[in-house]
Amino acid sequence: MTIYNFAAGPATLPQTVIQRIKEDLPSYDNSGMSVMEISHRSALFDEIIDQAKQDLRDLLNIPDNYQVLFFQGGCTLQFTAAPMNLATKYQKIALLDSGHWADRAREEAERIGIKVDVLDSTKEQHYTKLPELKDLVPNTYDYLHITTNNTIEGTAYTKLPETGPTELVGDMSSNFLGQQYDISKFGLVMAGAQKNLGVAGLTLVIVRDDLIGKVQNLPSMMDYDLFAKKNSMFNTPPVFAIYVAGLVLKWLKQQGGVSEMERRNRQKSGLLYDFLDDSELFTAPVEKKARSLTNVPFITGNPKLDQQLIAQAATEGLLNIKGHRSVGGMRASLYNAMPYEGVEKLVDFLDKFEKNYGGLC
Ligand SMILES: *Cc1c(COP(=O)(O)O)cnc(C)c1O
Repeated sequence: MTIYNFAAGPATLPQTVIQRIKEDLPSYDNSGMSVMEISHRSALFDEIIDQAKQDLRDLLNIPDNYQVLFFQGGCTLQFTAAPMNLATKYQKIALLDSGHWADRAREEAERIGIKVDVLDSTKEQHYTKLPELKDLVPNTYDYLHITTNNTIEGTAYTKLPETGPTELVGDMSSNFLGQQYDISKFGLVMAGAQKNLGVAGLTLVIVRDDLIGKVQNLPSMMDYDLFAKKNSMFNTPPVFAIYVAGLVLKWLKQQGGVSEMERRNRQKSGLLYDFLDDSELFTAPVEKKARSLTNVPFITGNPKLDQQLIAQAATEGLLNIKGHRSVGGMRASLYNAMPYEGVEKLVDFLDKFEKNYGGLC
């Protein structure tokens, strides 16, 4: 039976990448050493990291005046590192509260004494809509933080908020490389790798040159300027995770890049949303214009039935469609590596489930 893994992260990877890892594992590039064993100070690894950076630059059209940095500590550490490096003038940031991860970013910034103004929140609508900028952003913030895709709630910005002279910082963890954004609109982009780019243990930061190097004596592991100068190798980087990200980036290039991924993600999520919208049993609670291409939450309205459905789906090879504990119901994550066939199989299953359920009433 083919298994389709709809987990939100760590998440499904392209099968060709898994096969390649398997082939490479005992002896990377005929070196007689596994990639897990090679030194980060070796020529072998230099090639891996430099190629990964270049491929990422090509795929996202990253302008030359931006640094591509690799960190550990997850995207969560960047909720601290970004304000430490960037919130230097006003020590105050603005935030659009679009869900759990935006709120976590607020909390971490406040923990280090940064003032956070929430300019809009859709908490009262259970985050089924996206917060918006209602007025011009006053020029008294070091930046505005947004979450481009809300992994748990299933919303995504297609059009970015207009922030005027205020810098925009984007947490792109769950639609990084899955939906097109103009990087030059951001001062900084952060993304954990385990959603759409590879394995846990690696976080990407893309940051404009003029925003870094303004603070002395930051903790080294969070110092963007230091990491830029050391090619992300101030200490031992997550060698294996960078290698896997490199393979995924190569795969993305072969598949036609981010525009092709976005096209496929629209097609996949469209198939599921259309089914849900026509269904009498299932509801997709997110407002249509705010819907995510990569994370699709849905419910029956009956938690017992949801549980039954999740268990039954697993017996058919449709794994990890349980919603986040904070929202319940189901969630299908349709990242780049999820094939169209996986979504077809899910929709067929939901359709059969609905018909059987209808028969029971
Ligand atoms: C998963 C996720 C995070 C947290 O990432 P960690 O790597 O677990 O710290 C932050 N933001 C978004 C949007 C996410 O999806």
